[in-house]
Amino acid sequence: MGNLSSSDRNKIPKYDDPSQIESGLIQFNDAKCNGCGLCVKACPADTIKLVDKKAKLVEPVDCMACGDCISICATNAITLVKSYRYSGMYKTIDEGDLSLPRL
Ligand code: SF4
Ligand code: SF4
Repeated sequence: MGNLSSSDRNKIPKYDDPSQIESGLIQFNDAKCNGCGLCVKACPADTIKLVDKKAKLVEPVDCMACGDCISICATNAITLVKSYRYSGMYKTIDEGDLSLPRL
């Protein structure tokens, strides 16, 4: 960072700037969720919570579409519906179908 000009620094996408970063998105199937809470513990972005013993995304959503919650859910109650995307200085290279990177 020390060698970057201030204008270059301003181009670096900021995690909480929606104009530069688009969060990933998952969906829960409430009928399959048994409220075990494993996805809450597994999520590195800390963006899942239990509400009335059902998993829900925390607002604002900070999901980075890593797939950890999907991998750990024994009842297959979670589906990845949107990838994490960068804009501005970076571009997303993988434009293919959604897949689980950490399985
Ligand atoms: S891991 Fe699956 S079953 Fe357990 S709380 Fe999360 S979504 Fe529900
Ligand atoms: S895909 Fe990763 S970041 Fe997104 S909710 Fe699941 S564990 Fe958290």
